[in-house]
Amino acid sequence: KRGADLLHDPFLNKGTAFTDAERDAFGLRGLLPPRVMSQDEQMERILPGVRSKPSPLEQYVYLVALHDRNVTLFYRLVMDHLEELMPILYTPTVGQACQEFGRIFRRSRGMYITAADKGHVAEVLANWPQDDIRMIVVTDGERILGLGDLGANGMGIPIGKLTLYTACAGVAPNQCLPITIDVGTNNTTLRESHSYVGLRQPRLRGAEYDELLDEFVEAVQARFPMACLQFEDFGNHNAFSLLERWRDRICTFNDDIQGTASVALAGLYSAARISGTPLRDMRLLFLGAGEAGIGIGDLVVEALCSEGLSLAEARRHCWFVDSKGLVEHSRTDLAEHKKPFAHDHAPVKTLLEAVESLKPHAIIGVSGTPNTFTKDVLEAMARERARPIVLALSNPTSKAECTALQAYSATDGRAIFASGSPFAPVTYKGKTHVPGQGNNAYIFPGVGLGVTVSASSRVTEAMFASAARTLASMVTDDDLAIGRIYPSLSRIREVSRAIAIEVATLAFDRGLARVERPADIAAAVTDAMFEPHYVSLI
Ligand code: NAP
Ligand code: MN
Repeated sequence: KRGADLLHDPFLNKGTAFTDAERDAFGLRGLLPPRVMSQDEQMERILPGVRSKPSPLEQYVYLVALHDRNVTLFYRLVMDHLEELMPILYTPTVGQACQEFGRIFRRSRGMYITAADKGHVAEVLANWPQDDIRMIVVTDGERILGLGDLGANGMGIPIGKLTLYTACAGVAPNQCLPITIDVGTNNTTLRESHSYVGLRQPRLRGAEYDELLDEFVEAVQARFPMACLQFEDFGNHNAFSLLERWRDRICTFNDDIQGTASVALAGLYSAARISGTPLRDMRLLFLGAGEAGIGIGDLVVEALCSEGLSLAEARRHCWFVDSKGLVEHSRTDLAEHKKPFAHDHAPVKTLLEAVESLKPHAIIGVSGTPNTFTKDVLEAMARERARPIVLALSNPTSKAECTALQAYSATDGRAIFASGSPFAPVTYKGKTHVPGQGNNAYIFPGVGLGVTVSASSRVTEAMFASAARTLASMVTDDDLAIGRIYPSLSRIREVSRAIAIEVATLAFDRGLARVERPADIAAAVTDAMFEPHYVSLI
């Protein structure tokens, strides 16, 4: 590529950083302002630009535009200022970006497969310009964060997730592909709005949906055989059935179920170090028995079984409250995924009664419903436990079951608190508590990197269990002293690298890898990590 084509290719464009020699060699003379800048000098212009925007959403729009022009500079900025910019590119602002996706839409990114493409999905995928795709995040937009059905506007989520694959773990940006499967939306207000970008029809259901998804997965296998296919923010029923259908046949996982499970398990291991009660002695009470809740329950059970408990014993550590009350054996309305956790107990309607009856060590909020960890609930936890564990994992911030301040103030500062979306530190009665961010962003980037480096043919439960242990092992005593059960976000590349090494090693050990085993897996992982520096084109 040369001239204007080069400037318009965001993967190759360096803007004012093209050197004089490159400007001569590639026909760029006159197409750029004369002063040649270093990447550091570009950063000095860009960072105040982002910070000067009046709202998080405006910052999001600015960053997307930067990505559209210059991918390398975008990642340099995001990686150098991850703690500041992750809440913009990911939860909570990405939620607002999805809600307003049509209004802020500029340049298309990723691919849209629609109900109308049935029978022709392979032809559509053939249109993607890159062949060597390794990481795909796909949504059908039915359950975007805790915000519900956003249809094609959900595209913000695959884009945001893949941004973190690159920023947090160094998965190469040109090997990533965000995809939205637009099967319509049942959100009629959105569907009728003038700025909606998707199909204006109700959601496809039943056999037609299943056939389209089957065709899609098969077409992806044919077009991008080395890609890992990550399902994200599907409605609950489809999420479970798609995972069951494909997990033992292709390289796939569902991050809402499996990645969330891994980050929550890691948090429980760390909380055990503070409270002194090991996981095997903990009773866990979940609010929400959907993808995230059951995913966490299943991985906790696997972890307990590996410590020697029987399946039945392990399951009895996990109790669930759904929208109808406590999940228990007399309920006749339980979906399949809840049944293994329906234990013997009298019917209970509310979370408060469940807390009072079960006296859990931890409450885990994965309901997508705010203000459900009420003062009463938190006070009941504080009565029973010296260090109650309170995980308010629902996203975005507006859906968190309680705020950090509520958790600390209702428990006299004794809560071990973490949340799915970030909360600022809270000073309560003279002590500053730093809430950890219990978000699968600590897990999926590293898993993705490990899977791509090994070209693993599967993503296994053992990989998520190992990722949880690795993440927990990186939490320091200093982290715990300030109440943080996860490492600082500033260490996320180090965390992702460590997880990737474990995941790749598992793939090689278990015969899942589709490339030759390198002599030094750690070095291979490091070498594979994308660095946002300009390379000379000459
Ligand atoms: P889901 O599959 O739709 O499940 C939601 C569950 O919450 C269902 O079991 C539902 O009950 C229950 N529920 C809803 N309102 C309730 C209420 N008022 N009281 C009790 N239970 C209630 O959704 P999901 O995929 O699990 O996601 C749930 C939330 O977790 C979302 O906000 C999402 O953003 C968050 N999440 C966080 C992370 C993270 O990394 N922190 C990762 C994934 C998801 P029924 O079964 O009776 O309908
Ligand atoms: Mn999700």
